[in-house]
Amino acid sequence: MVPPTNDRAGASVLLFSEAMGLSKFDLGGKGAGLAEMTRIGMPVPPGLTILTRVCREYYANGGRLPNGLEDEVRAKLGEVEKAIGRTFGDPSDPLLLSVRSGAPFSMPGMMDTILNLGLNDESVKVLGEQTNDLRFAYDNYRRFIQMFSKVVLKLEAEKFEELILLEKQKRGVELDVDLDKEAMRNLVEGFKNFVKRETGEDFPQDPWVQMSMAIRAVFDSWMNERAKEYRRIYKISEELGTGVNIQVMVFGNRAGISGTGVAFTRNPSTGDKKLFGEFLMNAQGEDIVAGVRTPRQIDDLKNEAPKLYNQLLEIATTLENHYRDMQDIEFTIDNGTLHMLQTRTGKRTAPAAVKMAVEMKKEGLIDRDEALKRVEPQHLDLLLHKHIDPTKKIDHIAQGLPASPGAVSGKAVFDVAEATMLGNKGEKVILVRLETNPEDIHGMVASEGVLTSRGGMTCHAAVVARGMGKPAIVGCEALKIDQEKQTFSVKEVVVSKGDLITVDGTTGRVILGEVPTIEPELGPELKVLLGWADDVKKLAVRANADTPEGARRARSFGAEGIGLCRTERMFNLKDRLPIVQEMILADSEEERRRALDKLLPMQRDDFKAIFKAMDGLPVTIRMLDLPLHEFLPRHEELIAEVTTARLVGKDPEELRKKERVLKRVEQLVEHNPMLGHRGCRLAVKYPEIYEMQTRAIFEAAAELKKENCVVKPELMIPLLSDARELSFHRKNMEKIADAVLKEAGVEINYLIGTMIETPRAALTATKVAEFADFFSFGSNDLTQTTFAYSRDDAEAKFMPLYVDKGLLLANPFEILDREGVGKLILMAVESGRSVKSGLKIGICGEHGGDPGSIEFFHHAGLDYVSCSPFRIPIARLAAAQIAIGTEKASSTA
Ligand code: ADP
Ligand code: MG
Ligand code: MG
Repeated sequence: MVPPTNDRAGASVLLFSEAMGLSKFDLGGKGAGLAEMTRIGMPVPPGLTILTRVCREYYANGGRLPNGLEDEVRAKLGEVEKAIGRTFGDPSDPLLLSVRSGAPFSMPGMMDTILNLGLNDESVKVLGEQTNDLRFAYDNYRRFIQMFSKVVLKLEAEKFEELILLEKQKRGVELDVDLDKEAMRNLVEGFKNFVKRETGEDFPQDPWVQMSMAIRAVFDSWMNERAKEYRRIYKISEELGTGVNIQVMVFGNRAGISGTGVAFTRNPSTGDKKLFGEFLMNAQGEDIVAGVRTPRQIDDLKNEAPKLYNQLLEIATTLENHYRDMQDIEFTIDNGTLHMLQTRTGKRTAPAAVKMAVEMKKEGLIDRDEALKRVEPQHLDLLLHKHIDPTKKIDHIAQGLPASPGAVSGKAVFDVAEATMLGNKGEKVILVRLETNPEDIHGMVASEGVLTSRGGMTCHAAVVARGMGKPAIVGCEALKIDQEKQTFSVKEVVVSKGDLITVDGTTGRVILGEVPTIEPELGPELKVLLGWADDVKKLAVRANADTPEGARRARSFGAEGIGLCRTERMFNLKDRLPIVQEMILADSEEERRRALDKLLPMQRDDFKAIFKAMDGLPVTIRMLDLPLHEFLPRHEELIAEVTTARLVGKDPEELRKKERVLKRVEQLVEHNPMLGHRGCRLAVKYPEIYEMQTRAIFEAAAELKKENCVVKPELMIPLLSDARELSFHRKNMEKIADAVLKEAGVEINYLIGTMIETPRAALTATKVAEFADFFSFGSNDLTQTTFAYSRDDAEAKFMPLYVDKGLLLANPFEILDREGVGKLILMAVESGRSVKSGLKIGICGEHGGDPGSIEFFHHAGLDYVSCSPFRIPIARLAAAQIAIGTEKASSTA
């Protein structure tokens, strides 16, 4: 980079031709692009940039332009004037300018730009004479008044459109371009009268008055509501400010071959390497996006003006090679001459980002590390859900916010209990609600997808659905839900309970009936990119998977093992529930063992299928962490049932059974199940549970070993708070494992380790490590226990308020709390490895799939992260990006 030269130091205004090397933070993105294009010899109309610093001063001064700014602008413009031999404000030879906003980060359409500045009642006539084209002159003037009135005078834009419409009706024409010079002159009169009526003043005639008003308006637009909202969403700092670019006008609305267009150097939605864009002949500025006329495909320009097309193509290639990335460009053709008005790195869809990154690397435009940085890990989320074939045209009945990607079909169900019931029976349902709350979670779990009429992208339904990887549409306001009748309607369409609908959470479309979807898979380019990621990343990426199907999917997404296989999920299947209840309700060990004996073969088959799917890779199985209450009838309901049975007194046998269940449930009821008799504590009281599971694991492993399958079991103890708990379980489990293996006559290496998910386990990690072959941070529970938050309660009751009031910077269940939870993690890593230097350490909470948290785990020296299968590609890429960053940092040190 060229350092600022001395004569630039302290300047507030720089010519495009002297601003080279300054960053977009000084010049704004647009200014930086114009300066750079000028430097490399592209045809850019000359001009100057007021630095972003001036915008900051403007706000620090309470909305006043700094002293001396106008003099500086005059002086710099003087240099432009000298070069082109014309003077701004000279009535005998009018020089028109554009005054354009341009912030460091592109905020398309959020801020304001004014074209044709400098025209007034006198100069418009001169312009008409000079060009011998009065229509052109008055077209510019009416455009100028229109834009200036909207942007600077803050008059209603629609009024001007109404006047144009009236004029068109009067003349019986349809398009703006068909209005003749008389019509344009009329419009100018009409506009001026309107301005006078509304403001009480004449439209400003002095070009320099117009100029300073326009500069101020551009600065003001930095703080308009649209811009503020945009910055909030994209997390752009309010402090940056905007630059102002003042540039000599070129005219796409002139006679001859004139027009204006926008183009991308590659296709921003597919990534194809081909100029992509649109243009309009006889048009100016934003006619293209304003929808006044339908623009034409850029390919048409080849026929219209082949030489210009080729020149544009050449420029596009030069710009892409120069910036080594896809560019989004603006151009104008003024009477046969091509002018470049803007270039910036183009926004793109996720598939396009992946394709471009891989192809640009192959073309030699960028290196591998750069390719890896080109794709935002979070964006991969969009590629990894079942989706509707984008090539199919599909009619939708309503459009809501695309809260959680993917598309699913199912029966509309309006009641949470009913959705839960049907879903658990295996029916495909879509939960339709005004909004959801934490009590609805089980209904969401049982549903294929969620549709709500209220809420924004961060409402409960949206957050939870994304967490579960379930498609969801929220805030679909067109939906009129009638909870009573169990229907919803959109205009005349009525959807009743049980009707098939499809929610497309990728686009927010609600569709009647079933729409076929395609399975997500890693496309060929993504595979290549993630292969590069694997080459550089330091963290291994494992999956949280509880089913063979999940394990297979995880593997196809590149998982290097399973980091968390939750066995309680296997208990939750409908054919097993009665047996599990039998086990929980058992009065004696003998009865419990009978139930466990029935579960053993089922668990063995589960493990066998999972081990097989993960042949050769480690599988961490978490021993049962059973939330008892989820498997039992509700206490209040039982009381009611028993009371009724007593009153009716018909079936004494049935009553006795119910009473027995009630008695047992009363023994088991806990004030606070989250901190209660769960995790490994339960198996201290009932060791036979872990015995059964250990047996199932090793019987499965032994059978597979004989089939030449490589099994690497890692048994993990949950919710530990003291090393003695681990030593207790370890002894029992080893005994069984060794016995099973010995009996089967096979040798299998296995590990026994523990989750670290209570502060005490972290604080006493030195002792815990003595008995552990590995640690795995259960960051969800560790966050709950460190904050003393129960997640569901916190998220429902006060978390949004806390975030809003700045008492929490983010939801710590989504983004790891580095200060507190992170400190415990660092401490446990250090303590654990002080006892066992090579201690294997991973994390298996939801944070394992969050790029920001992954950065922390990388620096904490963990061996692996484990996350849901759909997040694996995200984690692989994030881990690679962090590894590249780290290498860079250490190599410059
Ligand atoms: P945005 O940031 O919204 O893209 P721009 O400052 O790029 O706004 O300008 C709006 C429109 O005016 C664009 O189509 C641009 O090409 C056009 N434009 C800007 N400056 C000039 C100029 N000097 N001559 C001709 N057209 C211009
Ligand atoms: Mg632009
Ligand atoms: Mg836990």
